[in-house]
Formats: sequence, C-alpha cells, structure tokens
Amino acid sequence: MAPRYQLDLEVPPLDWWLFVIDRLFGLPSLQDLIITPLWATAGWTAGLYLGRLAYQLPRDEPFRFTPLCSACTARIPLIQLPLRVHCRTCGAALSYDRLEWPLGAIFALLALVFGPTGTLLAYSFDSIVLLISATIDLRHRYVYAIIVYPGLVGAAILSPALTGIGWVSTILGIVAGSTVFGIFYVAGRLIYRGGEPLGKGDIELAALAGAMVGFPRVINALIYGSMVNAAVILTMLALRRLGKRDFIAYGPGLCAGTLITFFATS
Ligand SMILES: [Zn+2]
Repeated sequence: MAPRYQLDLEVPPLDWWLFVIDRLFGLPSLQDLIITPLWATAGWTAGLYLGRLAYQLPRDEPFRFTPLCSACTARIPLIQLPLRVHCRTCGAALSYDRLEWPLGAIFALLALVFGPTGTLLAYSFDSIVLLISATIDLRHRYVYAIIVYPGLVGAAILSPALTGIGWVSTILGIVAGSTVFGIFYVAGRLIYRGGEPLGKGDIELAALAGAMVGFPRVINALIYGSMVNAAVILTMLALRRLGKRDFIAYGPGLCAGTLITFFATS
C-alpha cells in the first residue's frame, strides 16, 4: 500500500516520491509482470469501444452501428494502425480518435503504481470517464450529460467504497469543485460580456473531479488542471496557433489535472 499523505497543496514527502519511482522504475515483481500487461490489454480493448462512442455520440449515431466516414460513408474499422487518421476508401481526414492507445497506457501506469487493489478499479473507471469527456470536449467543445452524470454517480460510489476516501470527503469534493468553477463561470460571463470563456460543462467536470479524488485533493486537481491549460495556451501562443482573444476548451486540461492527481497525491 502506498504511504499516505494528507497535506494539501504541499509537495509530497520524499518517501512518497521514492515509492512512485520504485514502482515505475524499480525491479518488477512477478505480480507486475502479470497484472500490468493484462490490465493494459483490458484498457486497450475498452479504448477501442470508447473511441467508437466518442465518434458516434456527437453525430447522434447509435453506438451499435459501425462508424462511417463522413465523406464517403465507408466503414471505419474497430482496429486500425495507431496513427492512421485517413479513410481507407476515399482518403478523407477522419475526426476519429484512437483512444485504445492512451487508455492502454493509462491502465498500465495505474496497474504499475497501485497494483491489484480497489483503487486500481476505481481509478480505471474514472480514467474511462475522463478520457471520453476530454476527447469529446476537445473536438466539439461539449460535455455530454449522458456521460458526465453516470460518471459522477459511479465515482461518488466507487471513491469511498474502493479508494479509502470517506463519504464526507467525496461529497465535499463535489461541492467544492462545482462551487469554485461556478464562481469562475459567473466571473467569466461578467468579464467577457456575452462571451463564455468557461462552459457550464466545465462546472460538471469540476464536480466530477471532486467525486473522483474528494476534498481537499480536488483543489490539487483544479490547480494541476490550470497548470496544464496554461502550458497548452503558452505553447499555442508561442507557435502562433492562437489569438489573444481566442478561448480554448478548459475541460480537457481539467481532466488531465484530475488524472495527474491520482498519481501525485494518493
Ligand atoms: Zn471515406
């Protein structure tokens, strides 16, 4: 079991870092050699279907139908080369995200760090919800209630049941996340009259982060999320891919911040 640390907004103690480094780079145990590849494969397989859901849902197409190229209606196969982003038939660029690779990698990391524990199960569920929310938000700037609310309920049950954070911490996390982002949302509407720098979906994602990591770690998640977004904005400004008045989707960075919190403060 990982050494616990409770302090919020402080750098984790040395023994925590040594534990993580040892789990990631130390000699693998027999358990690692069996559990990690198995779990990575499970994540990769789940990611195949998650990518299909991320493609079909914004198009109002049923999940059970094979996704089609929007240019020529050729079928998009479930399994394809990782970097292939063009239609095999007409060559048009596909807005299809191959989520099996990131989800497989996240599952492998979770298995390495947490081993076969309840925490692994809860964080794996959470990662699926975060990855699809971030993917759809990035492409469509939309957070689907049909994903975020079942995800919120699932996380609110799994976090106290499996990860060792209490019910109170979980509920406080939901309240804190949605309150902080509710304030940001109103402030954004007032500052950019008519504009909406943060969407209502960002409030839901902040509540989701709270359900996954509880209070006070939700504050870490929000701060890591801001840091990820700041890094993305600065990079895009440096590459001149972004005007100073452009808004970027805030949600994907927030999802990444929550994922970082799983590892950084456990
Ligand atoms: Zn095509």
